Amino acid sequence: MKFILKTLLTLFIAGFVLQGCQDQYDTNTVPESVIDRLQEMGFNPEGIEVVPEGYRIERDIIITPADLERNVGIIANGKHTDKQYRTTNLVNAGNGRNITIYAPEEGGSTGGGGRGKKGGGGGGDGYSAAMIAGLDLAIDRYNAENLSITFSRVTSSTGADIVMTRLNKRDERRGVLGSAGFPTAGGDPYGEIKMSGVLESSYGLSVEGIATIIAHEIGHCIGFRHTDYFDRSISCGGSTANEGDGGVGAIHISGTPTGATLAAKSWMLSCADGGDRPFNNDDVTALNVLY
Ligand SMILES: [Zn+2]
Repeated sequence: MKFILKTLLTLFIAGFVLQGCQDQYDTNTVPESVIDRLQEMGFNPEGIEVVPEGYRIERDIIITPADLERNVGIIANGKHTDKQYRTTNLVNAGNGRNITIYAPEEGGSTGGGGRGKKGGGGGGDGYSAAMIAGLDLAIDRYNAENLSITFSRVTSSTGADIVMTRLNKRDERRGVLGSAGFPTAGGDPYGEIKMSGVLESSYGLSVEGIATIIAHEIGHCIGFRHTDYFDRSISCGGSTANEGDGGVGAIHISGTPTGATLAAKSWMLSCADGGDRPFNNDDVTALNVLY
């Protein structure tokens, strides 16, 4: 299973690097002005996709029209070799803030349903028991750090801070794992995580592997950039590719050491390998500096 996933991800990345994935990078639908703006903001628009929320870059980062409008200066980072990065905007934690997350559960949520699901498919909009368990584990991992923000899962979307919705089937089939955006200028977390519903049925991911990906997307929602944003090849392979600071900022988090490595398995590395990446010591430092 792992081998299949790796092969799939490697194939995907190869396509991405070598030919820019024609079905993702469609200059006919992405206005030239947006590409210019993204470049001006410091993002690498290669592989940009049009999505309902705005644009998706690097396969999992959502740039909203509000992000494009925001006049946030590019922050000089020097050498780009430090370990942890955040965006300009963070969640306003005040004196402590609980962030609620809602995810729809598979209708009936029967125990044995997972197996029968076909590869690229997925029935309704709900998530399997393993996906919900992955979300709960991701939440537990954050809450175990005693941060100024906590998370809890709620069973109604009404008033939820973050709603987890299914990626569309085409994205699920293409192997997109999840996507999220960055905190708002008003200090709220980004409000939507789109997650694949076939991580278990198509890729055989464990609950821990699922939790790692969900925790990664939560990380974006509260302001974390990719640990290796300055060189995605560290976790994705292929040739060196800098995401740019994107105008949303890529500010080094003090106290985190230099030199992102694949071996350290930060939960915020650009590319997942399907395995478990609980917070490492540097991740914990970074979380505690911000929250
Ligand atoms: Zn990401």
